[in-house]
Amino acid sequence: MAPADLATLVTKARGGDPRAVARLITLVESGDPRLPELAGLLAPYAGDAQVIGLTGSPGVGKSTTVSALVTALRAAGRRVGVLAVDPSSPFTGGAILGDRVRMQEHATDPGVYIRSMSNRGHLGGLAAATPQAVRVLAAAGCEVILVETVGVGQAEVEVASLADTTLVLLAPGMGDAIQAVKAGILEIGDIFVINKADRDGADATYRDIQGMIGLAERAPGQWRPKVLRTVAAKGEGIDEVVAAIDRHQTWLREHGEWRRRRELRAAAEVEHIVVSGLRAEARQLGGGTRLSELAARVAAGELDPYTAAAQVRDALRGETPS
Ligand code: GDP
Repeated sequence: MAPADLATLVTKARGGDPRAVARLITLVESGDPRLPELAGLLAPYAGDAQVIGLTGSPGVGKSTTVSALVTALRAAGRRVGVLAVDPSSPFTGGAILGDRVRMQEHATDPGVYIRSMSNRGHLGGLAAATPQAVRVLAAAGCEVILVETVGVGQAEVEVASLADTTLVLLAPGMGDAIQAVKAGILEIGDIFVINKADRDGADATYRDIQGMIGLAERAPGQWRPKVLRTVAAKGEGIDEVVAAIDRHQTWLREHGEWRRRRELRAAAEVEHIVVSGLRAEARQLGGGTRLSELAARVAAGELDPYTAAAQVRDALRGETPS
């Protein structure tokens, strides 16, 4: 692809061409060297899309819920993007979505983009790629972007933190409530959804989570997480989830949180780009400031690590080590 084609691709994606959208996301996912140029082209269109994070252990019903949410959002005439992010999987191109029969009912709907992304092992990884993929979808006119992450762990917390509203899915009898607390999921959830409410133990899980939210310390005026029950497989309770998302979005805007969260995210993103760039440059240094050489001297006790780091910084600034 010639560099000029990037602008053409963005124009096509803005016009709603699904193949252009797919190609741009692949470009983002693979850490293409033209990412900075793409980011520049996308910047004016980052826009107002609602970014909804959705996380939970495998099997709680994430994909069923996402599909039901897409149905509800489409019925309301909203254009939707879905990113299914799997931080633990090195595979991509439908590895997650391929076997998801429910998603396929949206496959032919031009108002929906569905895409899975996984770790391709490039520098920065998914944490860096996901916000760019969200920008591609926003530029393509998606008003709501659902970012689904698999599992309950640190990587998921990181990916979920790019959302305006984070949904945490739990199911009865999976010990999820306890796991959620351990993984720090309780802190990130704006809305907790107890799915499989048709199963035994749903009320107990509901009470557990309500109890934990009640105990959590919150400054006055802070959002109190909502807890809802759904039977995603039957579409029950899904309208209530959409309503809760909209209420949270309104709350964010009314309290200046919407902008604040986006600014925090932007700060983290810029920092991430700076740090990963510096790391790459540091690893390319040669001569006396080659990292392996400095490391050998530090390990041998000839040099302390702070002096070594100062030498690396000097070398990066183009100064000769003192
Ligand atoms: P994911 O791994 O979190 O994406 O979970 P899936 O959406 O693939 O759902 C896992 C299984 O739970 C599937 O067999 C679904 O049909 C089933 N499931 C999803 N929602 C419900 C529900 O509300 N009630 C019941 N009983 N089963 C459900």
